[in-house]
Amino acid sequence: MNDVVVVGAGPVGLLLAAELRLVGVDVTVIERAAARSPHSKALTLHPRSLEVLAMRGLAGPFVREGVPMPTGHYGGLPVRLDFSVLDTRFPYTLVLPQLRTEQLLEERLRELGGEIRWEHRALRVRQDADGAEVDVAGPDGTYTLRAAWVVGCDGAGSTVRSSAGIDFPGTRATTTGFLGDVVLDAPPSAPSVDNEHGGFLVVPLADGHHRIAGTTGESLAIPADQPLTFDELRGYVRQVAGTDFGMRAPRWLSRFGNASRQAARYRDGRILLAGDAAHMHMPMGGQGLNVGLQDAFNLAWKLAAVCQGRVPEGLLDTYHAERHPVGAALLENTQAQTMLGAT
Ligand SMILES: Cc1cc2nc3c(=O)[nH]c(=O)nc-3n(C[C@H](O)[C@H](O)[C@H](O)COP(=O)(O)OP(=O)(O)OC[C@H]3O[C@@H](n4cnc5c(N)ncnc54)[C@H](O)[C@@H]3O)c2cc1C
Repeated sequence: MNDVVVVGAGPVGLLLAAELRLVGVDVTVIERAAARSPHSKALTLHPRSLEVLAMRGLAGPFVREGVPMPTGHYGGLPVRLDFSVLDTRFPYTLVLPQLRTEQLLEERLRELGGEIRWEHRALRVRQDADGAEVDVAGPDGTYTLRAAWVVGCDGAGSTVRSSAGIDFPGTRATTTGFLGDVVLDAPPSAPSVDNEHGGFLVVPLADGHHRIAGTTGESLAIPADQPLTFDELRGYVRQVAGTDFGMRAPRWLSRFGNASRQAARYRDGRILLAGDAAHMHMPMGGQGLNVGLQDAFNLAWKLAAVCQGRVPEGLLDTYHAERHPVGAALLENTQAQTMLGAT
């Protein structure tokens, strides 16, 4: 029997598994995808996430590759947040695509002897007094994994959460934003454009592309699952800025919604949740991945200590007690920013 099964090899599952391996916990990671997505939802690592990585001596490669941004926006307001006043070794937001964050965390997991079972999808979980089981569909058929603990790091649509019967109360998406990773031949000098027609951020990526993400009055009502076309993106940008900045070569076009939900319990007996499986929200201020990494860091040492019989399992209740309020504040913060951005 494994000590822990981690469901989902996104950034949160990867950091959690690596932290568990660091102290010798026997962990199996299953991931439904056949390979990592080349598209990066997140682009940012915030000071506290970098501090957490630095505690393990891991911040170096992230900082070397990322681009530090000393200021950020709040809800698209013109006055920028000044990170340089923070009491930290990392007084900035680091712009680093999620893909690279995941690759660096996966490298760390491998160095510690961990492995990922790609194309292994959790179908359902159940638990008894001594452990928990995950039914898994893999390339060679269906099988059951048994472990002392199962952690759902399987994102906003978490199978672990729904199968465990953990409520996910909140609000459904009522507005959406647009996102495009494109080449801009004549990018704007300002990091955002905002006026009565709408607004968008323009974030330069290290590989010569730019991320454009924003809303217009017209785009807000389009369902998140309706594909975004390049002409549509170009139209929104022209409508707000009067130019498309020489936009071409779209690499990824997508939409994101403002559904805002939080798991009622981060622990149900032998089943735990972390990251987007525990909280979903509009990606305002680039926070979800960061909060998820900090969930993982909070949970890992506690779970390791329980697995190794060093502390009573009641310690795991402090994970919910400490991280649920952080998730609740995250939802409030992103809802406030969404309201500001939409007015
Ligand atoms: C447009 C956009 C921009 C964003 N920008 C930022 C940003 O700049 N900064 C930031 O901090 N956050 C940002 N976020 C949020 C961030 O991307 C997420 O918070 C982050 O990906 C959460 O990581 P996770 O590991 O919890 O979940 P995910 O990244 O969703 O990973 C979950 C993994 O579980 C796997 N999985 C799902 N179901 C199963 C199953 N049944 N069995 C096995 N595997 C399964 C999935 O394939 C996936 O690999 C953004 C989000 C969006 C949509």
